[in-house]
Amino acid sequence: MISLSRPIITARELAAVSRVLKSGHLAQGREVTALESEFTRVTQAKYAVAVCNGTAALHLALLAAGIGVNDEVITTPFTFVATANPIMMVGAKPVFVDIDPGTYNINPVLVEQAITPKTRAIIAVDLYGLPADYTSLKRIVKKHKLILIEDAAQSIGARYKNIPTGNLGDLACFSLYATKNVMCGEGGVITTNNRNYYKLLRQLRHHGQQEGKKYRYVRLGYNYRMTDLQAAIARVQLGRLQTITKKRQFNARFLTHKLKYVSGLVCPEIPVDCTHVFHQYTLRINSQFSLSRDELQQLLDKSGIMSGVHYPVPLNEVAHFAAGSKKFKETKKASKEVVSLPVHPLLSMGDLRKIVDIIKRI
Ligand SMILES: *Cc1c(COP(=O)(O)O)cnc(C)c1O
Repeated sequence: MISLSRPIITARELAAVSRVLKSGHLAQGREVTALESEFTRVTQAKYAVAVCNGTAALHLALLAAGIGVNDEVITTPFTFVATANPIMMVGAKPVFVDIDPGTYNINPVLVEQAITPKTRAIIAVDLYGLPADYTSLKRIVKKHKLILIEDAAQSIGARYKNIPTGNLGDLACFSLYATKNVMCGEGGVITTNNRNYYKLLRQLRHHGQQEGKKYRYVRLGYNYRMTDLQAAIARVQLGRLQTITKKRQFNARFLTHKLKYVSGLVCPEIPVDCTHVFHQYTLRINSQFSLSRDELQQLLDKSGIMSGVHYPVPLNEVAHFAAGSKKFKETKKASKEVVSLPVHPLLSMGDLRKIVDIIKRI
């Protein structure tokens, strides 16, 4: 079976884990500090705070930004549920707006139309590894005095106008979950250039304790720390960022080169001012294709190729968001038409050719 994602685990990851185990220090410590420093280098942001997962990263980013009850946060309904859950976790209201059908990212024109006196922040998602339209989003947050949070869970190493993701809003959140481009099983990192946010984030992940003052609690906090075991794995992975990103981009170029003239298939679009790191390689299957999206998935499955749908249910249709009956045409359409093919760095040329051959034969 050609899997949709596969973690890269080498002797270096094993050695890193073994080093931490032998040190006897497993909790947040030196490895976490080193990982944070390496994240500031990759993102060119001033500060980085490691936490236990990407959802916790988003939760703390919203708390640090002071978002809470009676506030509205604008985001996209075409994303993983963990983009929007933290908005509810702080007691605020998610306000969904539709996507751009070409990039699958939030449509800034619709963002501006959705602003009310209660709007406090925007969470933009760099979906599939492609940065959102930050020129437009930054103009909007400046004009309306809002906070811009980047959900960069899928976009580590990507650039927008040559600026790395993680440095495109007021706060950015990464995930190091097992399927992400850089992973350690479970993990998250928040980056920011704001010293005040940085200090708050460090308190919030550790029970609200004042920095360096044991048992002095200055606010309600959480236990969202990362362990040194996870950080040690993530550091090895991050060291490979360039090579694994190049391989994903190579694989994506190969797939697009072979599939772009197939009638009924729409390959991923890369705006000129962006780099795409292909966390997912996602095709759109329209009515000109001879099979439906679901039939194509079944056929791929029978041929030993895993595929995925990111994402089949628009978040405005998920009950707990209580988003009402408003319809989002492009999100709905995309949720029925998209399919992600394997693009991960461990694919061989044979795997790539097999994927292309099966689709072209249809
Ligand atoms: C993975 C992911 C998250 C959540 O990260 P976890 O580490 O799984 O908590 C949030 N947003 C997006 C877009 C993601 O892909």
